[in-house]
Amino acid sequence: MVPAPHTADSEAALDQPQEAALDQAQQAGLGDMDVEAFRRAAHATVELMADYLAGVERYPVLPQRQPGELRPLFPASPPEQPESIERILADYRTLVEPNITHWQHPGFFAYFSSSGSGPGILGEMLMATLVANAMLWRTSPVATELEEVTVDWFRQALGLPGGADGFTGFYTDTASTSSLIGLAAARQSSGRDVAAEGLVEAPRLRVYASAEAHSSIEKACMTLGLGRAGLRRIPVDDAYRMDVAALEAAIAEDRAAGLVPCAVVATLGTTGSTSVDPVDAIVAVCRREGLWLHVDAAYAGVVALIPERRGPFAGWEAADSIVINPHKWLFTPLDCSLYLTRRPDAARAAFSLVPEYLRTRDQDLPVHDFNESTPQLGRRFRALKMWFIVRYFGLEGLRSRIEAHIELAQRFAAWVDDEPDAERLAPTPFSTVCFRWRPARFSGHTAEPEVAAYLDGLNEALMARLNAGGEVFLSHTVLAGRLTLRLAVGNLRTEARHVERAWALVRELGPQLDAEREAATEAGAA
Ligand code: PLP
Repeated sequence: MVPAPHTADSEAALDQPQEAALDQAQQAGLGDMDVEAFRRAAHATVELMADYLAGVERYPVLPQRQPGELRPLFPASPPEQPESIERILADYRTLVEPNITHWQHPGFFAYFSSSGSGPGILGEMLMATLVANAMLWRTSPVATELEEVTVDWFRQALGLPGGADGFTGFYTDTASTSSLIGLAAARQSSGRDVAAEGLVEAPRLRVYASAEAHSSIEKACMTLGLGRAGLRRIPVDDAYRMDVAALEAAIAEDRAAGLVPCAVVATLGTTGSTSVDPVDAIVAVCRREGLWLHVDAAYAGVVALIPERRGPFAGWEAADSIVINPHKWLFTPLDCSLYLTRRPDAARAAFSLVPEYLRTRDQDLPVHDFNESTPQLGRRFRALKMWFIVRYFGLEGLRSRIEAHIELAQRFAAWVDDEPDAERLAPTPFSTVCFRWRPARFSGHTAEPEVAAYLDGLNEALMARLNAGGEVFLSHTVLAGRLTLRLAVGNLRTEARHVERAWALVRELGPQLDAEREAATEAGAA
């Protein structure tokens, strides 16, 4: 595969790094980059960016590099003398761009495929230019108020209630941070002022999440002093959804043992299989037991933008906190996670600390100083790119793209179902297909240990061969002990032809690898 070509404009701007002069500020050793030099370099950078987006498909999705191969390409010590921006950009083009894993590639089907849209990238550029720090209203009034506005746009668009008992929220960097905040708020609401007193001599708190919940929930428990032992994993049913009867039994058992149940995490769209916990039934348990309900909808939450597809979310409007990641499936360049809560005071109680140097007169007015609800102080102006994205696509445009991804995934799922030598390993409620190559001769025998081991090895090899080819990138999980390939559709640039190609490659390589491995086994046995 050939690296993406760059246009004459970007070549002209970047191809004479040797001759490029230092700008006046560099020569003087004082002040920022000369503004006119910045203007020229910014135009050249935009050319690079547009060329990249236009040509990203020409790259292999995964750079064909080995660990440790890249570091020697860069000088081991920093430059003492200034270098021209032309040289830096030229090095970016040759050393950085080809050596990244191309998340923007339409063949990126791994993890939860995510992509940055044009308006999102433009918003990021302007955000960087303003260097707004949205820690206090005073430090960035429009950042704070546009955050309130766009968060409320999302609330409405997701069909969640507003008003006195409804949802408000803010943006954080990641779902990991949003869930940390949700669980910190839960901990703060569990009968003790943990922010003031800590957990010394506190009763042991318990958080409940399904066996399939994301590791960020466990990390939040580690960070919040509950420990990994403070998280009780609840078994799942055969569709990987939390078993609510088991949840109730676990809570009763913990109470009897003197532990204090604190929160339940329901995942709507788990990372492995995208299963949906029965949130309606979990709400009833939380109400009865007086527990905080945190909903992790980091990946799938955006599907609720489509009113006809809100079925799996029924009940989430009763949650205390919800996390949804625009940087997963809402065409937002990393980073942006949306934290929504019906109990904003709890996160504030968990994190508010206002030293004298952060006091402003505005605090006597009804303003949001969002840092009071988060572990960190400095905050990016993420609302700017979200404003660009929602306005550029419109809710209709966002819905039609998400819908198209769901349809592509459903098509792939149907191909798997129709293929006697493959099988689907989980339902496909959204845009991620869990499957494996399973030659028909093994049908009915997959539980036999030798067959199970053979299929795991075959699919591991299939994934490696698919990913080495450069056209697609798939990742895996383990479901019910079986190595499972995942094809996640969510990239703006992915079209039907890319999903068709992925399936064609699976159908070509699956039998090929099966034959190779069979031959190797026979040769070994002979
Ligand atoms: N929750 C779920 C369900 C996820 O799938 C992921 C990541 O894939 C996360 C949380 C963590 O997301 P982040 O990387 O934004 O912390």
